[in-house]
Amino acid sequence: MTENIRINNPNVKYTDTHIEAQYCYHTTAVRRDGDTLTVTPSVSELEFRTERRVPRLGVMLVGWGGNNGTTVTAAVLANRLGLTWRTKTGEQKANYYGSLFQSSTVCLGPGPDGKEINIPFCDLLPMVHPNDIVFDGWDISSMDLGSAMERAEVLDWSLQEKLRPHMSNLRPRASIYIPEFIAANQAGRADNVLKGTMAEQVKQIRADIQDFRHSSGVDKVIVLWTANTERFCDLTAGVNDTAKNLLAAIQSGGEVSPSTLFAVASILEGCAYINGSPQNTFVPGAIELAVERNVFIAGDDFKSGQTKIKSVLVDFLISAGIKPTSIVSYNHLGNNDGMNLSAPQQFRSKEISKSNVVDDMVNSNPILYRKGEKPDHCVVIKYVPYVGDSKRAMDEYTSEIMMGGTNTIAMHNTCEDSLLASPIILDLVLLTELCQRVCVRPQGSETFQSFHSVLAILSFMSEHIPPCLVSLFPFRACLGLPPQNHMHLEHKLQ
Ligand code: NAD
Repeated sequence: MTENIRINNPNVKYTDTHIEAQYCYHTTAVRRDGDTLTVTPSVSELEFRTERRVPRLGVMLVGWGGNNGTTVTAAVLANRLGLTWRTKTGEQKANYYGSLFQSSTVCLGPGPDGKEINIPFCDLLPMVHPNDIVFDGWDISSMDLGSAMERAEVLDWSLQEKLRPHMSNLRPRASIYIPEFIAANQAGRADNVLKGTMAEQVKQIRADIQDFRHSSGVDKVIVLWTANTERFCDLTAGVNDTAKNLLAAIQSGGEVSPSTLFAVASILEGCAYINGSPQNTFVPGAIELAVERNVFIAGDDFKSGQTKIKSVLVDFLISAGIKPTSIVSYNHLGNNDGMNLSAPQQFRSKEISKSNVVDDMVNSNPILYRKGEKPDHCVVIKYVPYVGDSKRAMDEYTSEIMMGGTNTIAMHNTCEDSLLASPIILDLVLLTELCQRVCVRPQGSETFQSFHSVLAILSFMSEHIPPCLVSLFPFRACLGLPPQNHMHLEHKLQ
């Protein structure tokens, strides 16, 4: 289902190459003087310009042979080939459920009868279709993608049988392996690793990106880390605090994680880099390098199941004036990610990432929380091989309600982890690609600017800042459309 949209607004122009939209941007500035807050609304004129040509997109996954890497590749192939397969409950058809762009809608506004008109999100602006993505990537395990898909135990067997001929000739490139960064229990699969100094290995990764770009004929490459969670990297002045020091540390062989080495290689090749795991890949030197080279970076950690629910639910409770006082989350999972996370240092990265998620909501409400006060927040992850990729998440939220009352909500979630993460991987790369084609000219400026190198707009899907659909509203602005405000005054006044 594809909808054609025509914007009936003299401030929006479709040229052969661009969509140009004049946009009134409404903001408020707040100043505190003693106990008085002065709030000043303001409007500025922005011009959005969106390139209409959709490029041929290549995506290189670090950790291509893992559960997410094989599942996302298989899902795209199955959709591209229009595959159907038998399950015990009947025939199943390939789809993109869980993808914001492919399977959700946006409201354009009310029709003449007042009823809202919704269209597929992907019809709003020209975007790459996931079926057209060309995949490549690296893994420390040499297993071909057909066998790796079987190892992952995610997809129905009858689908795997149909996909195997297409997946088996895909092989991950050799990768950077520094054993101390991931759990020791991963050593057994590391049979596809680069040799040489750190600098030589970064050079090889850059050569791989160039090779993929030329041999596949793609216009653009985006690199995404979906390899194992690493331990946190020590932040050290003189090593990773500036771009210059980070590049020097790579030459001399200092403390630089594989994920940061991939980020650096990617940035130096001008390719956007997305971090799907929780570790601190983006040390200050890597962020500075991305800003210097005008390359997008985004992350950290996919927001797929428990954490997404947590941020939405805690946001809802605190916005309703209810005070969450204790949040306890247990997980158990039996896939390779779970085995890696059973090591304390790698678990710690995940724990930090999952704990930060409620902080902004708590800080936003000084009626409920004194300065520095936080709910108790405990995260437990256990490795239970039998459940495989079917992750269990149990959460208990206890809140204080009116007059000393208590409200306890308990949730139990069972879900195939990689089938939640795969559509998010697709959304992240598609959104990043779209952001590369959008630029804005602020009022009074002669020149157009692109978004900041740290793509906060991706926060809905990854955890750097709290999720908020509002962060996707710049895409309405690209068409000169105001944010959806749900006031519906036109139907409420006499
Ligand atoms: P996985 O263990 O199945 O896959 C990871 C792959 O990375 C493995 O094939 C491994 O061999 C490879 N690898 C490890 N180090 C590497 C390196 N240096 N270079 C190249 N390859 C390397 O894990 P998964 O279930 O696919 O998850 C991948 C990552 O995504 C994990 O860090 C996980 O925490 C994160 N994540 C997953 C979800 C989810 O819902 N699945 C959600 C949030 C975050």
